[in-house]
Amino acid sequence: MRGTLVLNASFEPLSTVTLRRAVVLVMQDKAVVEQAHPGLRMRAAAVEMPVPQVIRLCRYVRVPFRRQAPWSRRGVLVRDRHRCAYCGRRATTVDHVVPRSHGGADSWLNTVAACAEDNHSKADRTPEQAGMRLLSKPFEPTPADTLLFALGADGDTGLPEWLAVPA
Ligand SMILES: [Zn+2]
Repeated sequence: MRGTLVLNASFEPLSTVTLRRAVVLVMQDKAVVEQAHPGLRMRAAAVEMPVPQVIRLCRYVRVPFRRQAPWSRRGVLVRDRHRCAYCGRRATTVDHVVPRSHGGADSWLNTVAACAEDNHSKADRTPEQAGMRLLSKPFEPTPADTLLFALGADGDTGLPEWLAVPA
């Protein structure tokens, strides 16, 4: 059960996303289940749904797969799943690894999600100068991330805590 295939509204295959994200898209009414795992259901409280293998978007999206998704603060938070790159706690801000005052760019490879506390204590310094370590390196968004930006779907938000999604 590796990922769920996402079809555009035109049935053209777009990308693969995690099952969790597929469920979010269906629950947000952004996609419908085209094909489900036979005999597998997810069940919790008042909600029951098939485990999607293939979903299809309700609305046609033009996804610029061959081009880089444009950089945005929201995009960085989505890419990093709202996890602080320095401590792993919930992040609400975007940190420039090399500060803009040192010539650091607004780019995917120079920005990470950060909690307000770490962003504040790092201030106008590089991680080395601040004695802080990045838990993971910033990276260019994957096609699945690009698809989610295009849909305006924000990571795992919208999925109730109580809904257990098979890993
Ligand atoms: Zn932090």
